[in-house]
Amino acid sequence: MRIAFANMKGGVGKTTLAYTFATSFRAVGKAKILAIDLDPQAHLTHRFVDDETSAKRNISLFFEGKLSLADCIVKTRFEDVDLIPSHIFLGLVEYKLIQKPASVLKLKSSLEELKGYDFVVMDCPPNLGVFSTAGVIAADVVVCPITPDMLALEGLKYLTGWLKEISDVPQISEKKVVIVVNLVDKRYASHRVFVELAKKEYQAALAISRRVIYQRAINHGISPWKEASEGSGDAIKEIKEFIRAIVEVKG
Ligand code: ADP
Ligand code: MG
Repeated sequence: MRIAFANMKGGVGKTTLAYTFATSFRAVGKAKILAIDLDPQAHLTHRFVDDETSAKRNISLFFEGKLSLADCIVKTRFEDVDLIPSHIFLGLVEYKLIQKPASVLKLKSSLEELKGYDFVVMDCPPNLGVFSTAGVIAADVVVCPITPDMLALEGLKYLTGWLKEISDVPQISEKKVVIVVNLVDKRYASHRVFVELAKKEYQAALAISRRVIYQRAINHGISPWKEASEGSGDAIKEIKEFIRAIVEVKG
């Protein structure tokens, strides 16, 4: 199963939730996971490996045709998680890819040939450019994190319109979309109202609370699930629900 975390807005939790899925899957089962960083800012990459490693093998070398997808894979400190790093160079290859739409489709076909992973988790950049398009085209499921403010619903309409357009390309089947309201603080009535509305009107799957464990885990390169296991059961329950909501959507 291939999952893209996408939204043209930054700061909504794409990287945090992609990281959480990849490193906390153990909370619900055993799986081999490949994380792919499609953002030239390489935030996800830096959570897993150093610059020296990501300079030698990264997704930009794949898009440029210099390495096969399999040759871009590196190990992480998590036994069950491998990574295809990003690199700032990725930003430089973008303009070349705009002229070569076939290169954008290449990620999907190469992932279909790649064996050995139960889940592929793709972290897209905060725009709807070529790398988000490549990730979404390659995905069966697109997770769209949004923040609990009314403006996010405007953005969501635009985002789902874009997803539909991409899915209309003949060779690409329809995507399953999972909307996650992230950074929720249930003490605020406005957040509670927003979550209800997003679930009812926009079929949002679930809400994820603003919790220090997500930040701490990603900053320290450990699993949010592990971090949560030292606290109350709430966070563990939330992480399990989040993972199941994605895994079960494909049906
Ligand atoms: P994006 O990838 O969409 O730009 P990030 O995942 O980088 O967003 O998240 C933006 C900021 O919000 C980061 O500092 C991250 O640690 C924080 N963050 C995201 N989700 C949560 C959460 N559920 N609880 C606490 N902090 C969060
Ligand atoms: Mg990000």
